[in-house]
Amino acid sequence: MASTSNTLQQNHKEGAVRHAEKRRIATCRFADRVAAVSIEAFKQRVPQKWREENKQVCLATFVVHLEQVDGEEGRLDVISLGVGTKYLSQETLRKEYDAPDFEYGKRIRDSHAEVLARRALRKKILIEIKNCMKGSSSELLQAMETKDGKQQFQLKQGVSIHMYTSSTPCGNSSLKKFATLSKEKFNDDLEKDEWPTNMHEAIPAHSLHLGQLALLVKKDISANEKCGAIDEAKFAHLPKKQRKWPANISDEWCPPNTAPPRIGKGSIHSCSDKICRWNYLGLQGSLLSSLLDGPLYMKSITIGRKFSRVTAQRAVCCRGLCNKLRVKRKRDDKDKDVVEQLDEKYKHSCPSVMCTAEYLDDSGVLEMSGEKVIGQDVRFLSTLCWLWYCNNENGSNVTHAECINGETGLVYDYKQGKKTSNTSSISTFQMTLDFIEVEKIQDAVFVHTLGDLRNLKRQVASDYEAAKDILLTKHQVFNMWNRRNGL
Ligand SMILES: [Zn+2]
Ligand SMILES: [Zn+2]
Repeated sequence: MASTSNTLQQNHKEGAVRHAEKRRIATCRFADRVAAVSIEAFKQRVPQKWREENKQVCLATFVVHLEQVDGEEGRLDVISLGVGTKYLSQETLRKEYDAPDFEYGKRIRDSHAEVLARRALRKKILIEIKNCMKGSSSELLQAMETKDGKQQFQLKQGVSIHMYTSSTPCGNSSLKKFATLSKEKFNDDLEKDEWPTNMHEAIPAHSLHLGQLALLVKKDISANEKCGAIDEAKFAHLPKKQRKWPANISDEWCPPNTAPPRIGKGSIHSCSDKICRWNYLGLQGSLLSSLLDGPLYMKSITIGRKFSRVTAQRAVCCRGLCNKLRVKRKRDDKDKDVVEQLDEKYKHSCPSVMCTAEYLDDSGVLEMSGEKVIGQDVRFLSTLCWLWYCNNENGSNVTHAECINGETGLVYDYKQGKKTSNTSSISTFQMTLDFIEVEKIQDAVFVHTLGDLRNLKRQVASDYEAAKDILLTKHQVFNMWNRRNGL
């Protein structure tokens, strides 16, 4: 009998059951611990009713590991969490720009779990900084003084940041084409507080022109049927050869719901791209970088569903380091790796990529009831998304997650079952206000447009912005990044 591929339709007998998640092999105990605390946080913070109605979701978290001095087992605390699979359509984004009272960043453009979790992480770091400034002690951060007498913060000794995502990140990580997949092996030598290191290998980049390392955007749902027009001006900054690469001008080779960045089929980058970028520029982003001693990098990323080491490692990390990407430009930086041109602080950081055998879907099996299902593909139905961060500001401890309507990018009142026009506590708009308050910027700063925000960033975070500019213009993978209005 011919083997059935996972995209073929299968008939299940009435009452038949199958596992909602494929069986997996964990990388090590630490990976399973990270996943277990993340899943527990999800159960505690997101309402039970919604969880029961939405059995299969995408969850992502950031977890801190705190080493214990007395030889005790290290502690794992979930500090931020995101649940979601939605993002705004190009149509909503355009309407937002056209509105007369437009203020930039009130809507959350991208509500994929990983992106929400990372926004919530930034909120949490800002809260910790605020607390430190008020003189309260922090378990995560310590203050230090810069040469010019400014106060900055860094992670305390023994504190490290780890990421969890219940499913392999969308984009390049789901592209199986250019790699030989292999089974994960459990590493029994690693203790509960240890994760593997030095797992990274140079990628033989034989198929760059076919999209092997390509950036991908989340495909715009409202433009699904329309063929995107290729605007050649958008390719003008690329080396001549790269402009004609098939991977850059066609989406036929792309994983489902993704497209190349500059052909008019979407503008929001896939999670694989974003995570890869965080591994260069840090999780803190631009504004927060001015309050920190250096970028915050994740030490590991633990993945559940659809894990494949070779593709995940390539997507979230190693494609940035590929040897073929050395760009020879002017004579003075001949042979210089793009990475070497980045500011001292912004060196690429390789997280350990791990798999977990902890399952998010605790029902374990799905009733098939005779209906047709499509392979192991999970359908994500709810438009609601959730985010949470550990909020201990003023001694308060808000424990519930905030609900976002992923199609409007605004707060959703889950109790009342109503849409609202409120901006989220982790929207760009709100977090810019938070930042201005913490930085005590004296001059009245108005951040109404993307241009205003960009000016503020250049003013307070010039190192970060310079590193970002080098990466997004000179790096042969990142130079395809879709930059809004050329900024
Ligand atoms: Zn995603
Ligand atoms: Zn790597």
